Amino acid sequence: MNTCQNTNLQNLLYEIWETYFPDVPRKNLVLVKYGKFSKQRLGSIKWVKDFKGIKSFYKKFKDEHEVQDDKRITLIILTRYFTNPKVPDFVIKTTLAHELAHYSHGFNSPLQKKYKFPHQGKIIDRELRKRGLGKELELSEKWLKENWRMLVSS
Ligand SMILES: [Zn+2]
Repeated sequence: MNTCQNTNLQNLLYEIWETYFPDVPRKNLVLVKYGKFSKQRLGSIKWVKDFKGIKSFYKKFKDEHEVQDDKRITLIILTRYFTNPKVPDFVIKTTLAHELAHYSHGFNSPLQKKYKFPHQGKIIDRELRKRGLGKELELSEKWLKENWRMLVSS
């Protein structure tokens, strides 16, 4: 897994969606790509405002976009540090699941907003545990605590 190709990342996102979020409808095109080398922000989710920077990538998903009723595009961005082969799959997986949880709560997605704030209480961690990702979440937090600082400073 853990490869720096955006297309593989996209497949991983769909895999996670189908496995852990099967009840969450895909109302629009949701793309995922690596962004900058960000140390603090491992992942984020936003609306695509323009096609700058995603043009060639988008072309691959144009057909998929055309069948969607809602033409807005959601973009998930992962830190480029995740292209480092030392980063375990469960870290990438839980980060993607974290962003999908935001989507399912209606943040930067066409779905109905369920909460006032995206990180209100422990809604994301609770969501991931409820969906069977508790073990991965623990592993991921532990790994990040023990390895992240070293990895981003090397
Ligand atoms: Zn978040």
